[in-house]
Amino acid sequence: MNDCIFCKIIAKEITSYKVYEDKYTFAFLDISPVNPGHILVTPKNHIKNIEEADEKTLCQIMRTIKKIGKALKDGMKAESYNVMENNDPIAGQIIPHLHFHIIPRKKDDGLILWPQKEYNKGEAEKISEKIKNALHKN
Ligand code: 5GP
Ligand code: ZN
Repeated sequence: MNDCIFCKIIAKEITSYKVYEDKYTFAFLDISPVNPGHILVTPKNHIKNIEEADEKTLCQIMRTIKKIGKALKDGMKAESYNVMENNDPIAGQIIPHLHFHIIPRKKDDGLILWPQKEYNKGEAEKISEKIKNALHKN
């Protein structure tokens, strides 16, 4: 048995406020919510990040995200929600078991998203080429 905290939550060895589960996914309240009703959606299998997840798993996760989003709007009177995933530690992933954050939003709730930058001249073209070339190798 691995010592992944989310695997333990999914196996119900650690308690959580579960809101939904099906054959492939498990959704529960984040213990430290950005806003009340902040949900984490995880695959039941221990998968580290998006690249390790197969297409079926990703589709199942997105299906659950859609259900939860609707429930946040209907049940929490959320006007909107953010879906976020911190993919690997440099991006802020602390728990190495893939999970998507669904954060309910209300107008003027004070949550500020990331600051944005501008491209230098010619930079966007070079960057888009690098990404397109890498995609062709997949
Ligand atoms: P990450 O930074 O990996 O994307 O997010 C991990 C999230 O898991 C954090 O928002 C944190 O509050 C939440 N979390 C960490 N430990 C527990 C726990 O034991 N139970 C629950 N419900 N959430 C947890
Ligand atoms: Zn795990």
